[in-house]
Amino acid sequence: MNVCALCLKHVREVGALKLSHIYPRFMLLLSKQEGKSVLYNYQGKDVQLGQYDWKEYLLCGQCEHHIKHHEDFLKEVLYSRRSTTQERVSDSEYEVHASSNAVALAVLTILWRGCITNLPEFKDLRVVTANGRELLRTWIYNNSLPSDWKYYVAMKISEATVAGDRVEFIFQPHFHRISDVTACVVLTVGGYIFEITMPVPLGYDHVGTASLIPNSRSFSITKVELSTIPSFKAAIDHAMSLDVSEELQDRIDKLPRRRK
Ligand SMILES: [Zn+2]
Repeated sequence: MNVCALCLKHVREVGALKLSHIYPRFMLLLSKQEGKSVLYNYQGKDVQLGQYDWKEYLLCGQCEHHIKHHEDFLKEVLYSRRSTTQERVSDSEYEVHASSNAVALAVLTILWRGCITNLPEFKDLRVVTANGRELLRTWIYNNSLPSDWKYYVAMKISEATVAGDRVEFIFQPHFHRISDVTACVVLTVGGYIFEITMPVPLGYDHVGTASLIPNSRSFSITKVELSTIPSFKAAIDHAMSLDVSEELQDRIDKLPRRRK
């Protein structure tokens, strides 16, 4: 590839592409308490252990730096031990004080890289349409989400934990495709479950207490057992069984194509 995946500039202009992590390095490191990455399919079968990070030549130096800014922010918010960032609400629930838009954008940089990589482990993510990938790219490139981003993406973050002394982290994105314009992901990485629906059908209110609400200064995360992942998917499946309206398609067709 001779073009940066984010700024779309040729390597003649921006220099050689960097070997980019598909998932942020801090998540991989946090997930390697036993020196292994765990691949896990949706049904909980065929668990595979790997020793590697997933990397590909994707971004120019400047865009790599741009992405790292989001990663650093996400690390500070989700993994911070400072009490000023996270407040325990109940045994399993934490209130996180941070911009929901910034968190959403940071998580979407991970989803986007999973969508555009050619690595075989991420092939399920390629059902995100070209339109959806371009939507993500323009948001990340412009470093901003539209104020109504929940019409395109619904996102929920939960922390995954496993009982006992063995900690497993799962990297495999679980994808469920509803139509050409709608798909959902349960992206599990680094001890967190990122439940992403994009675009979410209009009229479906996905913003519960544990969801990211656009333009909010805080959000909550819930610790869950990995065994509850099927129920996550069941909830998403139900949501996605709703029809995708013409109005939503119209919105998608009119997506802005802004540049810096
Ligand atoms: Zn670039």
